[in-house]
Amino acid sequence: MCGIVGYVGKQKAVPLIIEGLKRLEYRGYDSAGVAVLHNGAFEVAKKIGRVTNVELQAAKQKLSGTYGIGHTRWATHGGVTDENAHPHVSSDGRIALIHNGVIENYAQIKRFLLSKNYTFKSETDTEVLCNLVAYHYAKEPVATNGDSRFVESVRKTLRHTEGTYGIVIMATDAPGELVTARKGSPLILGLGDGESLVASDVSAIVSRTQSVVYLKDGEIAHLTANSFAITTLDAGTVEPVVDKVTWSITDADMGSHSHFMEKEIFEQPTALENAMRGRFSEDGSTANFGGLNISANEFRGVDRLMFCACGTALHACMVTEHLIERFARIPVECDYASEFRYRNTPLFRNSLFFVMSQSGETIDTLAALREAKRKGYKVLAINNVVGSTIAREADGGIYQHVGPEVGVASTKAFTSQLLIGAMLALYLARMRDMSFSDGTQMVQALKGTPDLVRKALLQAPHIQNIAKRYAKATDMLFLGRLSLFPIALEGALKLKEISYIHAEGYPAAEMKHGPIALISEQCPSVFFAPNNEIFNKVVSSMQEIKARKGPIIAIITEKAELPAGLADEVIVIPECHEAVLPIVASIPVQLLSYYIAVERGCDVDKPRNLAKSVTVE
Ligand code: GLU
Repeated sequence: MCGIVGYVGKQKAVPLIIEGLKRLEYRGYDSAGVAVLHNGAFEVAKKIGRVTNVELQAAKQKLSGTYGIGHTRWATHGGVTDENAHPHVSSDGRIALIHNGVIENYAQIKRFLLSKNYTFKSETDTEVLCNLVAYHYAKEPVATNGDSRFVESVRKTLRHTEGTYGIVIMATDAPGELVTARKGSPLILGLGDGESLVASDVSAIVSRTQSVVYLKDGEIAHLTANSFAITTLDAGTVEPVVDKVTWSITDADMGSHSHFMEKEIFEQPTALENAMRGRFSEDGSTANFGGLNISANEFRGVDRLMFCACGTALHACMVTEHLIERFARIPVECDYASEFRYRNTPLFRNSLFFVMSQSGETIDTLAALREAKRKGYKVLAINNVVGSTIAREADGGIYQHVGPEVGVASTKAFTSQLLIGAMLALYLARMRDMSFSDGTQMVQALKGTPDLVRKALLQAPHIQNIAKRYAKATDMLFLGRLSLFPIALEGALKLKEISYIHAEGYPAAEMKHGPIALISEQCPSVFFAPNNEIFNKVVSSMQEIKARKGPIIAIITEKAELPAGLADEVIVIPECHEAVLPIVASIPVQLLSYYIAVERGCDVDKPRNLAKSVTVE
């Protein structure tokens, strides 16, 4: 959610930190700030709004130095003000701190600190944490394991802290040192040539180094330009694993596109090829996954599947549910991760648990994973970011392999989740009662997905014209059935998040039980009407809308024959296998919401109030 960048090395820190923060802008934030140490005192520039505001402010204040910390905030405690932005400096001036997350017992700690004469300038939980570090630091604690007083005071602080955090800290008495720790919020160390970095996302580091260490919950790292050491909250030492990032900074650039979302929509054919690569069996009749860590026998014993996710990923789970039930005949349940974690859902003994999250850092999904594990279930994860917390904590899983997704509105990550869901359905079906020939047919169909998506993308200019005609709508309905009902939900979500038009997704026939009341000439309905066994039923629903003067945008497959004049706009997608249809049908709704948002002048890649990966509860 918010962004964290820390740097210590030989280069000018502020431009580097600002560049890193700009790379994290897509994660969503409302204010930003940067701090350096100069002549024994902290200098801080913070501003609400864009990172460029801080860049200008830092230039005005002439902030300089070769080490510092920077932050983009997504407010949880206290309004969006310059004062509440991070970094925070303790009231004795000795500690500067940035924080992602929520300190749940901050009120209690604040009362304690006020009684010790610490003072506060902001309303944040973060400033409380910062002053608590200062309080321990001032007491000059001695660590039993030989750690510095700086590290030990952070350790002592965190022992009294409830909630979630990713933090980076500087101390006036420890120039050239950064201390960083995490619980529930991602942090990655970057090990460069004579320089060290820390960030909440690899994209802020990868321009400097591809050697990274993923910090784990409960770990504290101490960084200097030439060294790093990791210990735990209970003062144990950690043998760090240095990973190599496999993508470079150009993967995260926009190229010739106007927005990351546009770039990511159009790179879906390649992304889907990457998600499938090497994942079909040699006999061409089923899927193969490397990292499931569950034997075929164990899979055969499973009699129920549970999927948890949030937002777009939940829609991908719902399509997966449909395909698994349809092809593998295993009952599947989907739940919002945020609900599952508190709901005490009864689970069956032979249930297998799946979580889905592009970033692998979504805090509610992570909590659902932990809850399922606590109850003794194996948890598999479908996620895109290699080495993410969810990927590490799951018992096994499937990586999406679609490269960094920067646009807040998910596109290529979503369709690759659909593809992996379809492959999983095939894999499970072939273990049960799907025949060899049905298996090979499905494999062929799945392999053809990138080309069908390429074909659907050719509709872009046509969809752009449609978007111009409907950009002024204030409400819109998305209606689909069977595996396209979740795509209707996703279409509505996409439109809402980037164009701020109120939109709802419904099963097409359910529309008459409520939403039909919204229908008027001003409320268009987007219908999914593929050529299948219930095509005529969907046409009837369209007639009901038409009878009430509602404009209709119909997304149909090539062979579907709509009654003349029924739809105001028609978008034709190729005929495809049932398992591929949700993927191909997603393309026109992605394009429609993208072009409508552009037409309305919306900031497509950085929609208001939203964040790419939601790492606070
Ligand atoms: N809870 C902190 C605040 O409101 C940090 C929020 C964030 O993760 O950006 O300032």
